[in-house]
Amino acid sequence: MSQLRFDNKVVVITGAGGGLGKEYALQFASRGAKVVVNDLGGTLGGAGTSSRAADLVVANIKEAGGEAVANYDNVVLNPEGIIDTAIKSFGAIHVLVNNAGILNDSSFKKMTEEQFQQVIDVHLTGAFKLTKYAWKFFKQQKYGRIINTASPAGLYGNFGQANYSAAKLALVALAETLAKEGQKYNIKVNAIAPLARSRMTEAILPEDILEKLGPDKVAPLVLLLGHDMVPSTGGIFEVAAGFYGQITWQRSGGSYFNPNDSYTPEAILHKWNELTTFEKGSQSSYPRELKDYESAFKKASRMPI
Ligand code: NAD
Repeated sequence: MSQLRFDNKVVVITGAGGGLGKEYALQFASRGAKVVVNDLGGTLGGAGTSSRAADLVVANIKEAGGEAVANYDNVVLNPEGIIDTAIKSFGAIHVLVNNAGILNDSSFKKMTEEQFQQVIDVHLTGAFKLTKYAWKFFKQQKYGRIINTASPAGLYGNFGQANYSAAKLALVALAETLAKEGQKYNIKVNAIAPLARSRMTEAILPEDILEKLGPDKVAPLVLLLGHDMVPSTGGIFEVAAGFYGQITWQRSGGSYFNPNDSYTPEAILHKWNELTTFEKGSQSSYPRELKDYESAFKKASRMPI
């Protein structure tokens, strides 16, 4: 197979001064993309700013013969500045990787509203604002690729990360909806739930596991999701340490109550095992669209499907 290239494509990566975003930037550039390396250069908790992180990545790309420009805007405060850097420097934007992120963990009991909002703002509101501004360019040129960075914590929940996990699952929902709205404009939107070595994980995972979790294992999927030939939109992908897989919703076969049944909590409890079973032969299914949801309640209410 010939190499998937990004010649004449402009790629914007937020939070690309380190960790995963840096690896994406290096790999996109090595395949011909013009890259905007955005990073405000703060701490893991979101404090401070510095141009150093983004500048170093741009220098690395240029040394290797690639094209890149740095941008130090905060995704929440100046999303337009980030996209405008792409337009001014390279004349277009084709791929947006919503990757910037921070952590501010604490158990739910101790989590303040400020802590919750700060994390929601950077991950979710930042991605919303940036995507909204990029959308008009994508729509106009009938081409766009968007990758939202979710997390296993968002898919499954994680102790101490109520703010982070809520933001991360919302990014999945944003991707699912934008995939539908973007379909007729050739805008493809997918979400990833990665695990990788970075300053986010270095303090919590043991070295022998971290060794296997290079960001270079995540980047190839992100490149594919950013390419013309990506075979997916609205997908959710898990990626870590050389594992690549897709996640989907599964609905149990459920229970249909007869209109003559009594609709009571006791009746539902009585059928609990039946309505929650996912076992083979239970007629569980994999809904992808709102109409898949509607088909279930229409059947229950004997409405035409
Ligand atoms: P990282 O801290 O190395 O990278 C995040 C980058 O985002 C930092 O360089 C930071 O300066 C930048 N950033 C933070 N707030 C910003 C803002 N407001 N505007 C612009 N830039 C900002 O960590 P990472 O692990 O490379 O994380 C990248 C993304 O992957 C994050 O969204 C993170 O939540 C997600 N993620 C990482 C893992 C993992 O295992 N490392 C797991 C799941 C999800």
